[in-house]
Amino acid sequence: MYLNRDLPAVAGGKPVREKPLPYARQWIDEEDIDAVAEVLRGDWLTTGPKITEFEEKFAAYVGSRYAVAVANGTAALHAAVFAAGIGPGDEVITTPMTFVASANCVFYCGGTPVFADIDSRTYNISPDEIEGKITPRTRAVIPVHFTGQPCDLDRINEIARKNDLIVIEDAAHALGAEYKGKKIGGLSDMTIFSFHPVKHITTGEGGMITTNSEEFYQRLRRFRDHGIVRDRSLTLENHGPWYYEQRELGFNYRLTDIQAALGISQLKKIESFLKRRREIVETYNENFLHTEGIVLPYQAPQCRSAWHLYLISLDPGRLRAGRKELFEALRAENIAVNVHYLPVFYHPFYRLRGFSSGSCACPRAEKLYKSIISLPLYPAMSDRDVFDVIKAVQRVIDHYGY
Ligand SMILES: *Cc1c(COP(=O)(O)O)cnc(C)c1O
Repeated sequence: MYLNRDLPAVAGGKPVREKPLPYARQWIDEEDIDAVAEVLRGDWLTTGPKITEFEEKFAAYVGSRYAVAVANGTAALHAAVFAAGIGPGDEVITTPMTFVASANCVFYCGGTPVFADIDSRTYNISPDEIEGKITPRTRAVIPVHFTGQPCDLDRINEIARKNDLIVIEDAAHALGAEYKGKKIGGLSDMTIFSFHPVKHITTGEGGMITTNSEEFYQRLRRFRDHGIVRDRSLTLENHGPWYYEQRELGFNYRLTDIQAALGISQLKKIESFLKRRREIVETYNENFLHTEGIVLPYQAPQCRSAWHLYLISLDPGRLRAGRKELFEALRAENIAVNVHYLPVFYHPFYRLRGFSSGSCACPRAEKLYKSIISLPLYPAMSDRDVFDVIKAVQRVIDHYGY
């Protein structure tokens, strides 16, 4: 049926774009390259002055007392779950609408992730659903600011206080996002960030944990360095100037100075990156406002999203085809759309451990998964790129709409 309707991209004609437009991509300029080259010519390739500078500037930007740089966002989650003291028998509540790392980190420490369903408007973890999943074994919550829109942090922190839970925000999507006028990063026990190339700023691979707690800060620093303590005021013994001691089983999760220099340079541009993301989102919103068949991302009034992702949700009542057909049609137009995410408990690793639709009871996340497509969104997109996406979406929706 599709081929009969003479859609150029599929019927052998011309797609909207000649070459695929990626869904996300880094922005690296000459200033970034110079910053990295300067470190390469210097004395410190790792654990030197650039790490401290990056941590201090990052903490100042998000408004936290401390920041600890680590090798990647997943290491940041692992470190935070470790610092929270999670171990065998403990349960940690998170959302199924996220990248697997948000839940895997609980297994790393011997705990069990528990999935709470999302709010069907914001797509973020629902505080009511968190409350419904609390048991005597629950020790922490990992809310994910999905697509860059902050979760309902006041309610989540209140539930956590009442039930003696630690809150670890997964802000891999939310650098620069605001909740009630305050930046994400200093609003609960710990917050983690990722500097993967698709995220807001990049260090190639990289991550950060922010916290206001001196105790968490010290545990996080130790964890990224094998569990070793060097500070004389903190060691149990002192055999001489060479002395250091390993107190816990940590990892080598250090970031390099090369990467930290790139991070410092990238962080200088965060406001312009956010501005461009928001501009693109406005252009999408304006152009899709009257497009029947797609639901645009809802924004809660107390939040200012950092817009890591722009999701459209397809309205099955108004389209003659499902998500798979529309996805393939957009790919045929050379728009590299994506799906974020497969609910975490659908992955075979989870299914084999007894997680299922029945045991997890997250029908809203499962329903959302069937309808979503992520459109390209990143600061390096030109106006032409943005309008190519709009044209492709409209062409495909026109084709499949009633
Ligand atoms: C990217 C991402 C991570 C992991 O970050 P890495 O730096 O790739 O390890 C964790 N959680 C979410 C929600 C992410 O999007």
